[in-house]
Amino acid sequence: MGGELKIVEEKLPGIYVIKVPLPGNPLKTLNSYYIRGGDRSLLVDTGFNREECRTALFKGLESLGVSLVKTDIIITHLHADHCGLVTAVASDKNTVYCSEVDSKRINWSLSQNFWEEYFAFFGSYGFPVRDFSTALFKHPAQKYNLDREHDFSIVREGDVLEAGDYRLVIVETPGHTPGHICLYEPDKKILFSGDHILGNITPNITMFYKGPPDPLDQYLQSLDKVDRLDIDLVLPGHRQVIKDVHQRIAELKRHYENRLIEVLVILGDRVMSTFQVASGIKWDLTYTSWDQFPMEQMLFATGEAISYLEHLRHQQKVRRFEHDGHLLFERI
Ligand SMILES: [Zn+2]
Repeated sequence: MGGELKIVEEKLPGIYVIKVPLPGNPLKTLNSYYIRGGDRSLLVDTGFNREECRTALFKGLESLGVSLVKTDIIITHLHADHCGLVTAVASDKNTVYCSEVDSKRINWSLSQNFWEEYFAFFGSYGFPVRDFSTALFKHPAQKYNLDREHDFSIVREGDVLEAGDYRLVIVETPGHTPGHICLYEPDKKILFSGDHILGNITPNITMFYKGPPDPLDQYLQSLDKVDRLDIDLVLPGHRQVIKDVHQRIAELKRHYENRLIEVLVILGDRVMSTFQVASGIKWDLTYTSWDQFPMEQMLFATGEAISYLEHLRHQQKVRRFEHDGHLLFERI
């Protein structure tokens, strides 16, 4: 079948990836992993709550002959491309695992209040929300999120889930989200990395409303934590598998070091809002100018710039002050 994209592929004995399309999203696809077990099987991440994702995921599961009632689900983190389809897949026969922090935030993000506060928070960093309802409607976290709250089963550092020949240990890796987790198989030396470590794309490190004060610091520490593990193969949430995780971690750390330098150069001797700083960063996106960025990409970029500036503030390289209800930054 020339040219047709295979949506299911066996990566290791009993471990399959289902490529769930993310239409219009630069990430292109979400890797949903199915680990075949005897008594219980395990599904890692699901896809957005939208028709294209639902169709592909169920088609993939069907082609593998999956019995859904004998399958549990684990969500690596709160983003809708990973958890959106949970309520479509899970019934009361399935346990859905997630970290405590991210599961609470998933359910919290289903309330209208959350988004009003969230945009006000971004507004304080200079993000211009001219039309609140448009911004809200376009945000994928809102548009493709779960359709209702879910009662998650909490997993913590060191907890073990078994499926088939695999013993998966929970490794808490906060940074990309406050409650991000990876799954580590110490005997087989494999890591399901969610969005903590990706191959040719750098994970978005953003500031979370009422989240940790310095997410980039958390992220860098979580990279060091994974660097200490013995890993032969990484199965990430997007794109291709990663063979040399230690090299990739070194590249990611260099990327963020360079970004911090770039931010200091942009600031120069000026006083700027985070939104202004974000507009000056050279993002790895194909848009010709900042004004061409779709609203949600602008929002991600601003969130990332907040995490850089707050990290530099914690390193005492920049200072933050309030002016007319806005947070502004300057170099020390
Ligand atoms: Zn993510």
